[in-house]
Amino acid sequence: MPHIVVVGSLNMDLVVETPTIPLAGETVLGKNFATFPGGKGANQAVAAARLGAQVSLIGRVGKDAFGDQLLASARADGINVTHVGRDETAATGVAMIVVDENGQNSIAVASGANFCLTADHVRVAWAALKKVDLLVMPLETPPDTIATAVALAQESGATVVLNPAPARQVSAQILANVDVLVPNEPETAQLTGMPVSTPDESQEAARQLLALGVGSVVLTLGSRGALVLDGETNDFTMVPAREVKVVDTTAAGDSFVGGLAVALGEGKSLVEAAQFANAVGALAVTRQGAQPGMPARNEVETLLSAKE
Ligand code: ADP
Repeated sequence: MPHIVVVGSLNMDLVVETPTIPLAGETVLGKNFATFPGGKGANQAVAAARLGAQVSLIGRVGKDAFGDQLLASARADGINVTHVGRDETAATGVAMIVVDENGQNSIAVASGANFCLTADHVRVAWAALKKVDLLVMPLETPPDTIATAVALAQESGATVVLNPAPARQVSAQILANVDVLVPNEPETAQLTGMPVSTPDESQEAARQLLALGVGSVVLTLGSRGALVLDGETNDFTMVPAREVKVVDTTAAGDSFVGGLAVALGEGKSLVEAAQFANAVGALAVTRQGAQPGMPARNEVETLLSAKE
């Protein structure tokens, strides 16, 4: 069982269903309201834990009710939250999500305590954790914190998986310490400044990511699957998605990243890991919600052993 450490965000998602998304200055009468545990860090941790990995989460929440709920929910998934600190002043991160009748959404995130996770917090937590096989990270914490985490992981021989989401620039210093970069298409365009709308363009952009210093690239392509560029062999492999009936694509990427990390931690090759991760992502999009939609290990094995 690999030990995966996720350094990343925990947010409470506050979701309002409305007929239309309100424009600036407009008030729209909505219908249902619900709260869901979210945040890319917590989502990726849950995805990996459901698949059987030992998972520790390094993060930060506030001393408030949302913080209590997020910790309880992560614990219920078997995640070690010893290193999720409680900030004295900052509030727990929230994402205000408005979803219209067509499933379109509009999201405002208040990072709150997530942006109070410092490099020192990571150093202290890392020193207390035993034998880490993989470090998994999205970008919803401060750049300095991320830079420190990747450097510590490299020093200790852990494999670094970076999911550069939400899309933003990443320093050369961080990229140089990344073993496997897992961007989607918009994130790839943001990091490389190159278009990614055709198969040839995706390949060129993936090569550019290697030139920026990462070890290998697994570019996720939504319903088309993933493009793997192995940095050791320089070979491209297109790994097609599983065909499924889509219900909700929220956190498809987070599910994929969690799956990829578990498979790599179990010693699978990059291409085998992408096949496994495609199955995890496919199951996640057949169900409503981010964390509630994430599959258990036996469901993934069943899908993998079924014919295409
Ligand atoms: P993100 O959610 O970060 O935008 P993608 O849309 O690229 O990421 O999806 C991530 C992964 O989830 C894909 O590589 C694929 O494995 C799976 N996936 C996403 N959408 C579908 C779909 N419609 N059918 C099957 N698998 C999907």
